Order: sequence, then C-alpha cells, then structure tokens
Amino acid sequence: MFDKILIANRGEIALRVIRACREMGIKSVAVHSTADADAMHVRMADEAVCIGPAPGTDSYLNMASIIAACEITGAQAIHPGYGFLSENAKFVQIVEDHDLTFIGPTAEHIRVMGDKITAKDTMKDLGVPCVPGSDGGVPDLAAAKKIGEEIGYPVIIKATAGGGGRGMKVAQTAADMESAFMTARAEGKAAFGNDEVYIEKYLTTPRHIEIQVFGDGKGKAVHLGERDCSLQRRHQKVFEEAPGPCISPEERASIGKICADAVAKINYIGAGTIEFLYENGEFYFIEMNTRLQVEHPVTESIFGVDLVREQIRVASGMDMSFGQDDLEINGHSIEVRLNAERLPNFAPCPGKITQFHAPGGLGVRMDSALYDGYSIPPYYDSLIGKLIVHGRDRTEALARLHRALGELIIDGIDTTVPLFHQLLEEEDIHTGEYNIHWLEKWLEATYE
Ligand code: ADP
Repeated sequence: MFDKILIANRGEIALRVIRACREMGIKSVAVHSTADADAMHVRMADEAVCIGPAPGTDSYLNMASIIAACEITGAQAIHPGYGFLSENAKFVQIVEDHDLTFIGPTAEHIRVMGDKITAKDTMKDLGVPCVPGSDGGVPDLAAAKKIGEEIGYPVIIKATAGGGGRGMKVAQTAADMESAFMTARAEGKAAFGNDEVYIEKYLTTPRHIEIQVFGDGKGKAVHLGERDCSLQRRHQKVFEEAPGPCISPEERASIGKICADAVAKINYIGAGTIEFLYENGEFYFIEMNTRLQVEHPVTESIFGVDLVREQIRVASGMDMSFGQDDLEINGHSIEVRLNAERLPNFAPCPGKITQFHAPGGLGVRMDSALYDGYSIPPYYDSLIGKLIVHGRDRTEALARLHRALGELIIDGIDTTVPLFHQLLEEEDIHTGEYNIHWLEKWLEATYE
C-alpha cells in the first residue's frame, strides 16, 4: 500500500480523497494554485504544494508542476478526482514514466473511451446495446443527410471528442441538418481540437441511467447498480438518485451484468461509469466515463462501500474488498448539486461566504469545501458542494432532503439551493416521473 498520495484536484473532491487516505493511514499531499492558498483542501491535507497561478491551465492542469510536487514530497501515487487531468491519457503516461501510480484506469482505456466513436464501437463489440446511428464518423454534409434519412429525424450530431454537454446539436428535420452539422463540427474543433462528428437517433423522452462498474484490472469486475441522472440543465446533471425510480431488479441485474462482463473482458481497473439513455424498457449506451463521478456518493450510500478507498486498493495492486454477491442495495439515496450560481440564468456567482452551516443528522452527508469567511475564487467550476441524503425508501429520502435543505445556510453568495426547494414542491419529482427534458421545460415554464 502507498504511504503518501498526491491529490491533483481541489474543492470537495480533494477533501473526499483526503478523507479516504486518512482512514487508510495514508499521508495526503494537496496541490493548489495561488488563488487557493486558503482553500479547505490545503488546510486539511498533511502537506501542500503551490503548483502555479490561478488559471486552471497554469496550475491544476500543469502536468510538470504536479509531477515535480510528487518528487518534492515523495508521494507515490496521484489521485486525479474528476475533471482536470482525470481523463487525460497523456498525463497517465507521464505519471507512469516517472514511476508513479495513477489511481485510475490505464492510458489505453482512457484513450479508447475518450473518443466517443471508438468507445461506441468497443462497447458494441462487447455486447453493450447502443443508440442506433452512423457507423463511426460522418465525413461531410451529404453523408450526414443520407444518414438522417436512413435512421429518421430527429437526430443528434455529436463531436467525437465532446464532453460536458458541448459539441452536441439536434436536427429536428432535414432542414436543420446543415446548421446542426456545421455547428457541432465547429464546437468540436474549438473546444476539443477535433472536428470529427457522428450521428445518433435523438431519443425524445429518455431517462439518463448510468451503471457504476468497478474492476480489479485482472479480469474481475462488478456492477453497483444504476443512478438516475435525468434531471439536467443543458446536458449537465443537477439532481441524481440511486436506485433509479423506474428500474426493476431484473433490469438492473441484466444490464448490470452486461456492463460488468464488458469491463471484466478488457481488464478494466478502478471505477467507471457506463452511461445509457433508457426509453420504453430499452438501454442505449451513450458513453463511458473512466473516472470517479461527481454523483458517486449516492451509490456509496445505498451499498455502504467507499469507492475511493477501493480505487486506492486496486491501484496499489490489492484485490477488491467485495464481490458481486456482497453487494446489496439498502434504501434510497439522492444528491443535489450546490452551485455558486444565480437563478434564473445560472450565472456564476463567486464571492465571500459570510455564513455557512452544514446540515446534519441521520442519513445526511454534506460534501463541500466551504467554511465561514471563505472566498470562492472566480476561476473554477461553480460546484461548491453536494448534499446527499439516504433514507429507507425514496419517500423518506425526499423528506430528508427537504429537512436538510432547510438546515443548510450559505450566505454571501447566490446558490442553486432555492431551485431544489422549488423542485421538491413538484408532484413529478415525488412520483419520479421525469425524463431528460423535464427540467428544461420546467425552468422555462417557471422562470420565463
Ligand atoms: P457529454 O460527454 O457531453 O456529457 P453525452 O453523450 O454523455 O455527452 O450526453 C449528455 C446528455 O445529452 C445525455 O445525458 C442526454 O441528456 C443528451 N443526449 C445524448 N445523446 C442523446 C440522444 N441520442 N438522444 C437524446 N438525448 C441525448
């Protein structure tokens, strides 16, 4: 086992990893930009190293500085969290070239799943059901129009290098194809340096269901059921729950096994998420994320496992501490994402926290790096915390969420907390009847 781990991230996820390290008796090293010198992850880690100026590209994405920080502190492994360098195959290669361990999958798996066309081909070969669409990349507009006619409108044009909801455009009819195709290509080029696109049937009322998988890198893998992340704004998740309100135990067992078998076959190591759209009882693969996800705590809550601890174990060469038969669902869990954003436009709202109080009590988990007097810098993602609740069933979890949101105090800035108070008044949230378009429609109706 490692003696010391460096965490190449900030905010709540850095704290999350530090906590796992401490429970395992492993020393932790925080890295930070000059803007984060007073951040909670710096205070909480055993050691801290400044790796550069405020912008992420100069600090949290600065590979040379991060490797140097490992050498200075004697850290043997790097946990990337999510975002930043977590899915950067080149970084993984550099880490390995320096005889350090990357706590995550291999560079090769990151590369394969990072390119959405290759990912889809790979999954198809592994027996995972996919959304009908083009066979790989679509070279030009004429080919795009032909595919549109074949699979039928509406279709979605996606940048193969896309992520975070960018590089995707919907064509409702053939008349929209030209502008959707050109825009998706241009966005792919501008944001990811790659203008290759592919086309999929656009599903009109799906839910977003993702399967958590975990592999030991030696051909053994398990699944930890699903998360329903259908409540999205601009393809970004805001509310996640496990188990999915509409997934039966039989469906879970069947799609779970397909996913676990697929990752076992490729000797996948560590945590991964296979994302699907789910419509009329069918699952359609959209992408695989080769990292720990923001919403991993809902899975931890219902299975009673620590996914970060498990990531560290397998990265150090140990076996997984559980097998498929040890994993049993207990109750229901919901996470809401607390962003420093001002409603109704969700404009970023950094600034000084004048008062902070985290909710507590049975079944409440608050993952956040906030404290009284902390100034949220304007340079990074607006996620400032996650409130996770667990109950014996969905009704209890919703009641607990309502109670915990009432206890939460974040003063000095605007946050997305009022959104969740409002959502909890909606009948559809209580019945669980929502799909990936529900929130956008509700926002339009409520705020415009
Ligand atoms: P990203 O990597 O940017 O997150 P994904 O491929 O995971 O992109 O898609 C993100 C979201 O976009 C999905 O959760 C869903 O809301 C929507 N989406 C993606 N593909 C389709 C599709 N074929 N039909 C309908 N919606 C889709």
